[in-house]
Amino acid sequence: MSLIDDLLNGRMKLHELERHLPADEAVRVRREFIERVSGASLRHIANYSIDMERASARNIENPVGVIQIPLGVAGPLKINGEHADGSYYVPLATSEGALVASVNRGCSVITASGGATVRVTGDCMTRAPVIKTGSVAEALELRKWMQDNIEALREEAESTTRHGKLLKIDPIIVVGSYVYPRFVYSTGDSMGMNMVTIATEKALELLTEKTGAHVIALSGNACVDKKPSALNLVEGRGKSLVAEVTVPGETVERVLKATPESIAEVNTAKNLVGSAAAGNMGFNAHYANIIGAVFLATGQDEAHIVEGSLGVTLAEERDGDLYFSVSLPDVPLATVGGGTGLETASECLDIMGVRGSGKVHEFAEIVGGAVLAGELSLMGALAAGHLARAHRDLGRG
Ligand code: NAP
Repeated sequence: MSLIDDLLNGRMKLHELERHLPADEAVRVRREFIERVSGASLRHIANYSIDMERASARNIENPVGVIQIPLGVAGPLKINGEHADGSYYVPLATSEGALVASVNRGCSVITASGGATVRVTGDCMTRAPVIKTGSVAEALELRKWMQDNIEALREEAESTTRHGKLLKIDPIIVVGSYVYPRFVYSTGDSMGMNMVTIATEKALELLTEKTGAHVIALSGNACVDKKPSALNLVEGRGKSLVAEVTVPGETVERVLKATPESIAEVNTAKNLVGSAAAGNMGFNAHYANIIGAVFLATGQDEAHIVEGSLGVTLAEERDGDLYFSVSLPDVPLATVGGGTGLETASECLDIMGVRGSGKVHEFAEIVGGAVLAGELSLMGALAAGHLARAHRDLGRG
């Protein structure tokens, strides 16, 4: 009887294959099983070069292979940051034709304009459990206990990690008899979700021991992880980024085929008013496109793309030039841990020189610049269409 037969008749579970076989063999048998039951040919998924033994230990369960997403580069992109200072090529993984070309066009406009000024304005990762008390009075008592015992909670939390630091517990939201304390950490070069989860769990052991409070769940959704959220928009999560550029009017007209006024008008009508009218939290054209492509290329947690879609784009005509900025309050990023150690992700981080410890702020500033480039290019294209229509309509009287 083959292992595939054992899988087919239920004598063995899919996740048990690694107990009997080396990692790559287990992947092959599991894939063949899936081919048998689905009738699909997985010839391309079978092709990979990454170390599947390592990946199975950290990144994936029940592996059957690897998907391939086309990878392009945009650049050079000149960044004038506090951590990133120079010209970079940005790796973008996507299946959306024209995205890389559009970001690339934005990069050339920015670089020709002297570069993007980028700053990391905030840096934290959060975990907010939900704790049940007996009444509103007890909930308020618990909140006070946490505020009074922050040092002891910090000591417990930080005992689990070398790089994680508990910055504050704020806000502590009370809803009826439920309490949602938002534990806010700095997490070094890691994105930090595992780190802060482990640290918060340890702090809660002290809290339950001392107060008898009942922790309903380690995450009570006020973290706010992987969901669009007003709290993240205001307070920030991951890296908060701001990037700006002033593009000479002549460059706007020559490269973007638009004018500073037309881009400013499209921005107001679309990103500001249109978003407000629709109740959007992303007051921008397409941050998620650039965030998504960079995240897939560099091994970030792709579910955080939803957080990176938040933020506000501004465009103004200033003395004949275009002032253009993007502000992204919620971009969870890592150059260490999570998926960044996968071989293809490491290579992409190497393209920018930002793999490993001490690099996450440089990486963050490059990401801010890349979003600025993608946003500028699309807004230019929309404004060019708006201008073209205006000319056509005017030309026709
Ligand atoms: P991680 O790989 O679990 O943790 C980072 C590790 O790197 C820690 O062990 C840390 O050690 C170490 N490290 C070494 N050098 C470091 C440096 N310079 N800066 C920071 N840490 C350094 O990754 P994570 O970032 O905490 O979590 C990311 C993973 O969590 C992703 O795979 C993501 O998909 C997943 N995730 C988990 C949850 C959850 O609820 N658990 C939610 C969303 C995502 P020390 O801790 O000793 O400092």
